[in-house]
Amino acid sequence: MFSLSLEILQVEVTSKCNFNCKYCLRQFWRSSPRDLRLEIFEKILENFPSKKVVLYGFGEPLVHENIRKMAKIASENSEVVLVTNGSLEVERVLNYVDFLGISLDSIDPEFLKRVRVNSEFEVIAENIKKAKERVEVELEVVLMQDNIKELTNFIKWAGDLGVDVSISNLVPYSREMYEMGVFVEFSKRTLEIYRDVIKEYPKKDRFLIDVALGVKDAVEIYRRIWERVREEGYSINILRLMENERRVKFAERAEKILEECKEISESFGIKLHFPQIFGDDKLRECPYEEGIFVRADGKVAPCMEFAYTHPAYINGHEKKVEEVIIGNSSEFEMEFQKKKRKLKEFMPWCGDCSYVTFCWYVEESRDCYANKPSCSECLYSAKISRCIL
Ligand code: SF4
Ligand code: SF4
Ligand code: SF4
Repeated sequence: MFSLSLEILQVEVTSKCNFNCKYCLRQFWRSSPRDLRLEIFEKILENFPSKKVVLYGFGEPLVHENIRKMAKIASENSEVVLVTNGSLEVERVLNYVDFLGISLDSIDPEFLKRVRVNSEFEVIAENIKKAKERVEVELEVVLMQDNIKELTNFIKWAGDLGVDVSISNLVPYSREMYEMGVFVEFSKRTLEIYRDVIKEYPKKDRFLIDVALGVKDAVEIYRRIWERVREEGYSINILRLMENERRVKFAERAEKILEECKEISESFGIKLHFPQIFGDDKLRECPYEEGIFVRADGKVAPCMEFAYTHPAYINGHEKKVEEVIIGNSSEFEMEFQKKKRKLKEFMPWCGDCSYVTFCWYVEESRDCYANKPSCSECLYSAKISRCIL
């Protein structure tokens, strides 16, 4: 195994879990759940000395019989973050972790049971209270159309307890999951420009047909939209803007609710981190610029997104994301690491691209800059989905 000095080393100590969440990648993969062996864990820490060791992946870390020992060893040279579903004995690790993320999407026990199958709200709430007495705790919320309505109550509940909250959009592995979400991939600025210019065209529903037919006024408006979008350094996908009006309404409502949540969190004095609801090329950054992800079988991937082969649904199309295993050579990692650090320079953003519905590159995680693998549709990079790192 090669070695590398890192800011963040994320280790999936197990891919086994006592929950069966509806939106988890584990519902969509072909891997067999397994535990990372303690001796391999020690070897990983040796080969990848890091400021921060993050213990979680696609599995529940507290299921691992050696998790206490692992957290202890990691804490000798690094800050330790652990993320749990909050259902098991959190006391086992509290002496060794600096920060504990506890996943909780709702304070409605019925909703929670339905989405995070096998969860018990009372058990998780009890563990949150115990943990917050001893370490920094943050609640990790996956945002969906079904739980956003209750979000303000959730923040008040967290505020009463005095714990911080971090919200992420869900990462859709299927069309059905995509429909559960509240985000859109295109940028807000292109939507604003489109709305501002299109209002001058009386037959909005026919706009693109009229452009295709060469109707003079339609072509003129089309040209003006593109001119303004380009002036501000964007691209635009007018068809997707027109087709996704209902989703845009959801997204705009979500932004308002998040603003309300922000005010509530400030009144309680707790921190609230929330995701981008609209994608924006200009904000893109790879959260793993200085980090890697190690799977429960000891294999090394550049990030969570590339850890396992899985289906995905984004920008109106299905795709297959192939796992990227760095292997025994650091050559690929060095090259890819360079691209991760300068994402905007090396990889396009497909969220505003007019070709995305028909682009054959994206179906296989490639892109038009000749990258394979490509991060051109990565929701983590657009801060739509947030990694707890
Ligand atoms: S608790 Fe986490 S790892 Fe377990 S099924 Fe749910 S999302 Fe997946
Ligand atoms: S897919 Fe996303 S998280 Fe992974 S390396 Fe690319 S930008 Fe980073
Ligand atoms: S990869 Fe395809 S969809 Fe993405 S920016 Fe390039 S042409 Fe557009």
